[in-house]
Amino acid sequence: MSLVPQTAELSEDESVLLEAVREYARNELLPLDRKCDKDESSILEALPKLGEMGFLNLCVPESLSGLGCSYRLYAAILHEIAYASPSTAVSVSVHALTGNILLQNALEPLRTDLLTEWGDPKNFSAFALTEADAGSDAAGAKTAAVVVDGGFRLDGEKMWITNGLTCRWLLTLVRLPGFEGNDGLCALLVDAQAEGVESSPIHGKMGIRGSETAVVHFANVFVPADHQIGEQGNGLRVMLSGLNGGRIGIAAQSTGIIEACLDEMVAYARQREQFREPIGRFQALQAMIADTKVEFEAAKLLIWRAAAMIDAQMPDPAASAKAKLYASESANRAAYRAVQIHGASGYVNECRVEQLSRDARVTTIYEGTSEIQRVIIANDLAETGVASSAA
Ligand SMILES: Cc1cc2nc3c(=O)[nH]c(=O)nc-3n(C[C@H](O)[C@H](O)[C@H](O)COP(=O)(O)OP(=O)(O)OC[C@H]3O[C@@H](n4cnc5c(N)ncnc54)[C@H](O)[C@@H]3O)c2cc1C
Repeated sequence: MSLVPQTAELSEDESVLLEAVREYARNELLPLDRKCDKDESSILEALPKLGEMGFLNLCVPESLSGLGCSYRLYAAILHEIAYASPSTAVSVSVHALTGNILLQNALEPLRTDLLTEWGDPKNFSAFALTEADAGSDAAGAKTAAVVVDGGFRLDGEKMWITNGLTCRWLLTLVRLPGFEGNDGLCALLVDAQAEGVESSPIHGKMGIRGSETAVVHFANVFVPADHQIGEQGNGLRVMLSGLNGGRIGIAAQSTGIIEACLDEMVAYARQREQFREPIGRFQALQAMIADTKVEFEAAKLLIWRAAAMIDAQMPDPAASAKAKLYASESANRAAYRAVQIHGASGYVNECRVEQLSRDARVTTIYEGTSEIQRVIIANDLAETGVASSAA
């Protein structure tokens, strides 16, 4: 079951690409993901192969040597990756998010120089917004940049940074001293290999244990002036603008998890017998499976609509928030039901639903918690006064 609605037409090339992704993900990424979950090792050992498969420049336009995928196709690809490996899906999604921000905001020649080689693992990237004391309220960032000859000097620390150990580039929100509020916020593209950048892993995560999550420390790090992305005072807007697409990525990660849960529950309900019949004949379990299937279909349509808005150059933050909110909460319900249907067997790591239930958990937290998505949706309604933004 692809993310693509039955009524949507894909070109032959797009269908072939999607099929290749599905095959690679299920045959190669799934076993690697299971291993990385067990030993908490980085899924990015597959980074060279992810580059070869074209996963690192999916959204870069063809004019810049990328694959030029529509956002709908991009979401469908992430869904297939997430079915097999939610950890890989978030790693790829964050790199795409950073690339999209550079595409919209970086100045030439940096923009062309970097994006024409964005598919090369040597340019792998991270999105460094969050700090220990600035989570949902990202504007509270304290990482400080002072203007020096030829650029900036950076001091501070970012937290919970996906891809933060392997990445070459860190798109980082910083604060310039002497300015009030958002006027001092600025987005800088920091070279992770520059002197003074140090990353350390955050261990002991509940789920997506194959994805890298890091604390990134900056001590007197020099950033050249042409690595400022967008204007001063526009830093928060620049960073948050990427989350429109980023949230679609997390929503697609969530539907990948839902589909994996559905397949596991249906297979088990057919095979497991109690009271001398397959447990799938019990209506209580049928209800769980049916509810999951309906939520899966609904989540896919919300994603498709939000992605289509971006493809039509009409990005709608509320549409992305709705897709992320619904898909991520549905993924958690799906994972709960999948464990429930498996009974005790679902409670041990040998069974994939145990891992899926842990992997699903973070989807309602990162790239804006569910509570923040609801704030975005409610504020949009308050501003537009229109109850259906689908109209
Ligand atoms: C595995 C992982 C990977 C991550 N990757 C990245 C990354 O690559 N880059 C990055 O920058 N960040 C990343 N994050 C950070 C993530 O985006 C933040 O955790 C998230 O934005 C929430 O911030 P917080 O954890 O500080 O929670 P807080 O903001 O402290 O929120 C705590 C609780 O208060 C609620 N809350 C806060 N404000 C409001 C409000 N106004 N209304 C209602 N409720 C509210 C929240 O919903 C939550 O329930 C990652 C996090 C994790 C766990």
